[in-house]
Amino acid sequence: TPPAERYEYQAEVSRLMDLIVNSLYSNKEVFLRELISNASDALDKLRFLSVTEPELLKDAADLDIRIQTDKDNGIVTITDTGIGMTRKELIDCLGTIAQSGTAKFLKALKDSKDAGGDNNLIGQFGVGFYSAFLVADRVVVSTKSPKSDKQFVWEGEANASAYTIREETNHENLIPRGTRLTLYLKRDDKGYAHPERIQKLVKNYSQFVSFPIYTWQEKGYTKEVEVDEDPAEAKKDDQGETAEKKKKTKTVVEKYWDWELTNETQPIWLRSPKDVTTEEYNEFYKKTFNEYLDPLASSHFTTEGEVEFRSILYIPAISPSGKDDLVNPKTKNIRLHVKRVFISDDFDGELFPRYLSFVKGVVDSNDLPLNVSREILQESRIVRIMRKRLVRKAFDMILGLSLSENREDYEKFWDNFGKYLKLGCIEDRENHKRIAPLLRFFSSQSEEEMISLDEYVENMKPEQKNIYYIASDSLTSAKNTPFLEKLLEKDLEVLFLVDPIDEVAIQNLKSFKEKNFVDISKEDLDLGDKNEEKEREIKQEFGQTCDWIKKRLGDKVASVQISNRLSSSPCVLVSGKFGWSANMERLMKSQTI
Ligand code: ADP
Ligand code: MG
Repeated sequence: TPPAERYEYQAEVSRLMDLIVNSLYSNKEVFLRELISNASDALDKLRFLSVTEPELLKDAADLDIRIQTDKDNGIVTITDTGIGMTRKELIDCLGTIAQSGTAKFLKALKDSKDAGGDNNLIGQFGVGFYSAFLVADRVVVSTKSPKSDKQFVWEGEANASAYTIREETNHENLIPRGTRLTLYLKRDDKGYAHPERIQKLVKNYSQFVSFPIYTWQEKGYTKEVEVDEDPAEAKKDDQGETAEKKKKTKTVVEKYWDWELTNETQPIWLRSPKDVTTEEYNEFYKKTFNEYLDPLASSHFTTEGEVEFRSILYIPAISPSGKDDLVNPKTKNIRLHVKRVFISDDFDGELFPRYLSFVKGVVDSNDLPLNVSREILQESRIVRIMRKRLVRKAFDMILGLSLSENREDYEKFWDNFGKYLKLGCIEDRENHKRIAPLLRFFSSQSEEEMISLDEYVENMKPEQKNIYYIASDSLTSAKNTPFLEKLLEKDLEVLFLVDPIDEVAIQNLKSFKEKNFVDISKEDLDLGDKNEEKEREIKQEFGQTCDWIKKRLGDKVASVQISNRLSSSPCVLVSGKFGWSANMERLMKSQTI
């Protein structure tokens, strides 16, 4: 037998293990959810690969998860027939933290520690494989990858800084393919080895796993058995003519153990929307995308006709991404299935434009080939149609949110994802009509609460033809700009564009409901109140003053002119009609867009 080799955990893992073992006590039962979700991921991977390599299935045709309990010894065993792990994968996967869920957890934990600490986080995030140590003091992972002809055993203990790996040599322990996790429960947690307890947890936590989960349960059936008659009874009757002996039957319960299917495997998106509750949609979302907050909105739909697919889309409650993600989003937000088989979460870019990359969801198509690749998607007419429908549905969902009674929800949405829609103004001319009603801005008449363009238009003066805006770097400077004076005097509302991307977005829109957007800082602003007689007089009077100022300023300004747009300030710097606005110039200089 080759000896077991010892490996140290990566520092982060040690820290996490220490935390799990010594400070996280609440919500221990989430360990089962985490381990089942790993088994399910492993089965997903195998099923996907087997589409092109069917021989991968030859060692074990069934894709399922089986959980066995030994309550006398406090042992829980979870076995899957998934992709398994090679020796190297064991080291990479179970000795280091590379994946997002756990990394997210550690970050949140750090943030919340800074803010006072909160042990409940584990329930919200899960810490993946290591959550086994919430309830077990020893964990053995025996695993067989179809890529390797050997089976390996990983073994770790709570409170240890190292784990071991050895080759499985005991024939009784060999599995055809996949992974078997054995948890030796801590003294106080042996209750998890009760079959009914496990059954209840599986029902609770695994409603969205699309592989069958079997639990090992004690069963019984009743049967009638013949018993010999009581000799005393028999005697009474025994008066000669007892040729046929009297027989008696009794009902007994036969006990035996067997696998019992414990979850429902119909994917939620295949169910009829009217049979699914909001809670179920939210649970599915949180489980699938590793989120802990409910989504702001969801949309479940089927499209038929030319192309058939089903989908559930969600708007997340918060945006995890900064500006960088907006420019180059590497999201894994859309999970593509073909005929229920999970294909990839890497094709967001093919199914959604980048400015809608914040939308999360699942898509299941019957019309795509199972071995679909990015190249196929890019070429596919079916995908082009799907993309159009998905975009339309996403807009319907956002519009629905914007019309909801609860104004706060849309404010939350706008806070998180407003910048994405503004990017849409720049990148998706075709959908301007859908994007424009969703935009929100502060204005000279609404400095506290943002308004929509529809609200602006409703509030327009009867003779007003344009939508006025001023772009600035802050609300304060927008409010105090001299350009506003004349418009305020006339009670005309002016939009305050204070986000760097606002001005470009508006310039791309050009108009809304046939009203043009007009920058009030531009030279040719015409408020329709010209008094030519008076202007001529003033020009005469101050012509020389202007010449003098221009001489003093030289090349610093293009020209110095008499203006009719001020009411109390003596002068204002304006941009030329065809040049950049002052705000754009500021932006270009700082390269923020
Ligand atoms: P995550 O599932 O978020 O990646 P985990 O800590 O739960 O993080 O698991 C770490 C990794 O260990 C997984 O990504 C996977 O590669 C591997 N793994 C865990 N459980 C199994 C399993 N049952 N079968 C195959 N690989 C597994
Ligand atoms: Mg996991």
